[in-house]
Amino acid sequence: MARQCPVCGSDHLIPGVDLRDRHGQYPSIQHEVELIAHPTHLINRGGITSPVQATVCGSCGYVMLFANFPADLWRVYREAQGEKD
Ligand SMILES: [Zn+2]
Repeated sequence: MARQCPVCGSDHLIPGVDLRDRHGQYPSIQHEVELIAHPTHLINRGGITSPVQATVCGSCGYVMLFANFPADLWRVYREAQGEKD
């Protein structure tokens, strides 16, 4: 997790901010990232999703996105690359 804004250097960071569609009439679904370990498989593709939240810089407005389960995403990424832990 960032402790300092990479753009302006401020430590006025606001973590855990949900992303929404601006003009949606209904609440948007939570945004997420998805990785598939075996994209050519028809079944048992080894997919994983992780919700994404933003950290917003309270000084310049820069927005950073963070996946909530990075270790799980890394594991699937390594599996997709044919690597073991
Ligand atoms: Zn900033």
